[in-house]
Amino acid sequence: MTENKKSVNISRRRLLNYGALTVASGALTAGIGKAAVSQTTNIPQKVAQNDISPDSSPEEVLEALMAGNKRFVENKRQNPNLDAARLTEVAEGQSPFASILACADSRVPVEILFDRGLGDLFVVRDAGNIATPEEIGSLEYGTLVLGSKVLMVLGHERCGAVTAAVAGKPVPGQIGSIVEAIKPAVERAKGQPGDGLENAIKANVLLQMERLKGSPVIAELIEEGKLTVVGGYYDLDTAEVSLVS
Ligand SMILES: [Zn+2]
Repeated sequence: MTENKKSVNISRRRLLNYGALTVASGALTAGIGKAAVSQTTNIPQKVAQNDISPDSSPEEVLEALMAGNKRFVENKRQNPNLDAARLTEVAEGQSPFASILACADSRVPVEILFDRGLGDLFVVRDAGNIATPEEIGSLEYGTLVLGSKVLMVLGHERCGAVTAAVAGKPVPGQIGSIVEAIKPAVERAKGQPGDGLENAIKANVLLQMERLKGSPVIAELIEEGKLTVVGGYYDLDTAEVSLVS
């Protein structure tokens, strides 16, 4: 057993001991301890369309996620899981079927563009959809603890953060740290045929996916067939999400 694997197993055992793997978020939000464990509740994975069950494979979950985007594109939104009953249900716990790392851009509201509601998606957003240690930790929680079967990095057309990285000019404050995280993707995309910015945005999605897969926690879930990590590109003009590989 490698050192990495050992640490994953240990951390998982610790989570099991605390009851966190019963798909209850109380352990992190209320502080890990006996009191938090006694308040945990199992919430079955449920969405309005009944298109996902606890037995669904990661591939089936991805299909359902993309179907929600298709409804949004075609202006056939069902606005699932937004009623009072769902509010009451998820107040007790959560089991989001997908975790998504998306850009903070105001034009990329994740739940809306995938036509999903309360408790369906575990969403982490920052400028440039970059996987920093905090983001990786959050998404380890969304997948390992909460049980998401799909982990998507979602970039988008005309991303300001990637545009800044491509321009390579000085930026104020701590915006520079975002640009630095994207720069390797800009380098990779250089010389590719087609639109330079779009290429850099897609290369950035792939780069951040690599960073996530570098997490031993996420790598083990993939190896066990419990999780698939995918890249997405959101077209601001058509509202369509296409897969990036
Ligand atoms: Zn952006």
